[in-house]
Amino acid sequence: MSEASRQETFEFRAETRQLLDIVIHSLYSNKEIFLRELISNASDALDRHRHEVLVAGETVEEDALRIELAPSTEGDGRTLRVSDNGVGMSRDEVLENLGTIAKSGTRELAASIREAENAEAAAELIGQFGVGFYSAFMVADRVEVVTRRASDERATRWVSSGDGSYAVEDANRFHHGTDVVLHLKPVDEENGLPDFADAAVLERVVKRHSDFVHYSIVLQQPASGADGDGDASADGGERVLNSRRPLWTRPRAEVSDEELAELYRHVSHDWQEPLDSVWLSAEGRIEYKALLFVPSKAPYDLYYRDAAWGLRLYVRRVMIQERAEELLPPYLRFVRGVVESSDLPLNVSREMVQHDRHIAQMRRWLTKKILEHLKGLKDDRPEDYATFWRELGRVLKEGVATDHESRDRLVPLMLFPSTHDGEALVSFADYLERMPETQTEVYYLAGDSRAQVEGSPLLEAFRARGVEVLFLLDPVDEFLAEALPEVEGKPLRSIARGEVDLEGLGEAEGDEAKDAAAPDQEAWDSLMERLRSALDDHVKEVRLSRRLTSSPACLVAADGDMSPHLERLLRQSEGMDVPKQKRVLEINPDHALLTKLRARHEADAEDARVAEVAEVLYGQALLAEGAELPDPARFARQVAELVAETL
Ligand code: ADP
Ligand code: MG
Repeated sequence: MSEASRQETFEFRAETRQLLDIVIHSLYSNKEIFLRELISNASDALDRHRHEVLVAGETVEEDALRIELAPSTEGDGRTLRVSDNGVGMSRDEVLENLGTIAKSGTRELAASIREAENAEAAAELIGQFGVGFYSAFMVADRVEVVTRRASDERATRWVSSGDGSYAVEDANRFHHGTDVVLHLKPVDEENGLPDFADAAVLERVVKRHSDFVHYSIVLQQPASGADGDGDASADGGERVLNSRRPLWTRPRAEVSDEELAELYRHVSHDWQEPLDSVWLSAEGRIEYKALLFVPSKAPYDLYYRDAAWGLRLYVRRVMIQERAEELLPPYLRFVRGVVESSDLPLNVSREMVQHDRHIAQMRRWLTKKILEHLKGLKDDRPEDYATFWRELGRVLKEGVATDHESRDRLVPLMLFPSTHDGEALVSFADYLERMPETQTEVYYLAGDSRAQVEGSPLLEAFRARGVEVLFLLDPVDEFLAEALPEVEGKPLRSIARGEVDLEGLGEAEGDEAKDAAAPDQEAWDSLMERLRSALDDHVKEVRLSRRLTSSPACLVAADGDMSPHLERLLRQSEGMDVPKQKRVLEINPDHALLTKLRARHEADAEDARVAEVAEVLYGQALLAEGAELPDPARFARQVAELVAETL
């Protein structure tokens, strides 16, 4: 541009610069994937353009929509131009889309990359995130974008060397759309940098990664004579490189895993391989086809409130929406893929999608099919299911509390750690199958980690009798348990709440004497009242325990109270003002600490030592369940004093 108008230079934001730096000093051995990213963006831009035209009630010249690859070795070095006649970008959009990495979580990602232990770990992280457009800097030392939105008169040029800044200025472009011009780095085959200005290389890369793209990917070959190497193909002219066949319309057996993975990458913007694909088609009153994917890793933004999710919605080959959230319930937000319907109007708008009856029907159908598919995965490929569950099980659990209609399909998909096995997870079905006939409830204990619950005194009596207890360790589990009153007629029961009655569940090992002589309740009443009043701030009741064998005391919640774990979770989540609930302290009448304490109390009802021990007992019970002490320094002092006296 001669009278370069409105040229401005901008600095990339810190986290964008860091990511660029990683991309440029590449962690990727596989640099050719930059092309798939640029083609993917071009294809998205064409989809958007086509949809805009249709919504405006105009007709689309289908054959005119295309992606061009134009290599050149003339003039100032080797270049590759990737062009489309899609929506293009306004100046503001250029600044927004190419000046920042707008995805939520960029900062967090940049931070974890910085902390990553080695290049491989960093590459894995960035692969999960996908850097899209910026991957161009893996192969180019300068990238130039000229783009024009159909509604604008002027075009915008964006130029950067990926070194911290970029320049933006007005430009001209005859048609709407975008050119991305790459000034290619020197060829370096050994380090994965073949000649991307070579037609054969481009053809191979397009075939490998972008064959299914709906639009023609046209190779513009330079006219012969320039390099004069006598190559037969150097005659100039055009050639379409891709077969353009949407995968979801082809029989499953004809589609290779590699092709599937590429479609997955295109729709998910994830750079990894999917764990599994789900092929669906429904014929009848309404026809749908869907090709869905389950990721192999939890998307990095799975728990970000503003993260985009949803399926690509096509109507008769036309993409209507990139992220149709309405097609899935939120707890299936990790599912990626394409849904095609023949029964929606082509010019359907976003708002219409939100309220359309067909869409609601499709959502129900898709939900059912996905859950059935996951059940199949669990039964037939338990190892893959274990991977799925580790990465995404937490999200699926949300469904139990939120989607009553699907509960019967969701419950069999749930897995939990349990006392039965130190490692393997168990399902409700496993649990029910193992439980003795006399057992009427499904027992669980909620907590923060396996190590923490394993050591809980609440488990003692269950262990002694060999009664299995499930561990609910995800924050969402407590909500799941609340929402799920019973499984196959057996109520779910927290062992941290109310009284437990393990009578009839078998003898506790080596404990016959205790069972034979039930403790004399009255003999303990006076001490228990003393303990209760000493701990009045924290404890609403003291009672004799039937669940302890070796610990002196434990804390439980009263029946009907919130579980202490849930109370802690709610208190940790910001802005929650949770009133403190008093607990029930259960004491073990067989423990020497308690029998001696009782003796002291009976000798002198005013003995100050009893109140001190009460506090220590309470503190120990808190520690045993992994909770924090109200006053750790005071506790430490009291314990030290007591220990000193016994020495
Ligand atoms: P993503 O495709 O995952 O959104 P990219 O880094 O690949 O991320 O692209 C960033 C954004 O830049 C895109 O979302 C799009 O808005 C814009 N963009 C990139 N390439 C084009 C193009 N050829 N035409 C129009 N917009 C584009
Ligand atoms: Mg992209």
